[in-house]
Amino acid sequence: MNSIPFLNLEPMHNLIRSEIMQSFQEVYDANWFVMGKKLEAFEKEYAAFNNTKYSIGVSNGLDALHLALKALNVTNGDEVIVPSNTFIATPLAVSYVGAKPVFVEPDENTYNINPLNIEAAITSKTKAIIPVHFYGQACDMGEIMKIAKKYDLYIVEDNAQAHGATFKGKITGSFGNANGTSFYPGKNLGALGDAGAITTNDESIAKKIAMLRNYGSEKKYHTEEIGFNMRLDEVQAGFLSVKLKNLNEWTKQRIDIADKYNYALENVGDLVLPEIHEHATHVYHLYVIKTKNRDGLQKHLFENGISTLIHYPIPPHLQKAYQSLGYKKSSFPIAEKLADNCLSLPIWPGMTESQILRIAECIQSFF
Ligand SMILES: *Cc1c(COP(=O)(O)O)cnc(C)c1O
Repeated sequence: MNSIPFLNLEPMHNLIRSEIMQSFQEVYDANWFVMGKKLEAFEKEYAAFNNTKYSIGVSNGLDALHLALKALNVTNGDEVIVPSNTFIATPLAVSYVGAKPVFVEPDENTYNINPLNIEAAITSKTKAIIPVHFYGQACDMGEIMKIAKKYDLYIVEDNAQAHGATFKGKITGSFGNANGTSFYPGKNLGALGDAGAITTNDESIAKKIAMLRNYGSEKKYHTEEIGFNMRLDEVQAGFLSVKLKNLNEWTKQRIDIADKYNYALENVGDLVLPEIHEHATHVYHLYVIKTKNRDGLQKHLFENGISTLIHYPIPPHLQKAYQSLGYKKSSFPIAEKLADNCLSLPIWPGMTESQILRIAECIQSFF
């Protein structure tokens, strides 16, 4: 019996092999590798896809969030509200600018930050909120934008998992003041290495980020601010342009796979399947189920040749790196319960119907 990996990029990559090789050859022959035409082209294309005026390509998703906060002048002593169940990169970016991440519990059903809990966490030090469109589902941006307006806070969307998702028809990564996304290879839009971007509609923020990612220089050898080297190189930018053309089709396939899982796993054991907010769409970066016997189910699947992952086993507030914030077990019960009960099933564009069925049957047999 063939084993089923958690993620297989091969079907996508086989489809675009010749275009990828062609793009590489163009960069190779141009002998221009950093800050060139491929980056410029991809930035235009991604801004158009994301329905924002600007997109600035950078080194990775964590750097994108860091630069977004930095450009908004979030700094020492400020507080930034983040979900308690996010990937560690979200609070790390807050720490990088010297601010304090303030965790807020998600909605128990959608796993996205709960607007009702945001308002309770706002203090005089709060500067920004980072809604994370978790697993690929858009957050309740209607309520979150209302809160931001009421308390005069910045919004920095973490769109690393949700390229192309929408809330009330508006695409994620186009709501906030400056939004970060990741093109890590396993993301819905993935480079063949590390990459990321910031999206914004604000010209001055776009200019500032473009400067900060390149040593703090707008003009070569003229340094206006203490910036960084956080650039996106020509080879990766070219690859991303090729992949972006296929993203909508690949997202459709992800949704189709999720529909098949939903159908096959309904009313199986105590499984909780993904629930979508009435105004949101989900692009299924991850297909996550919940069960009280998560570890047993994961072992059963593994013994049958099926790989799964846990996103994420330890919430940020329980990480050693954040011990100094003084949280303990049971500080954020919803995030902790999710960490204990969640299981991500294999999903990738090009996955076959028989693979989906075999996984579903294996889960049914466990219960
Ligand atoms: C992947 C990810 C990031 C970080 O992206 P990198 O490119 O790996 O630095 C940030 N936030 C979330 C929610 C992610 O899933």
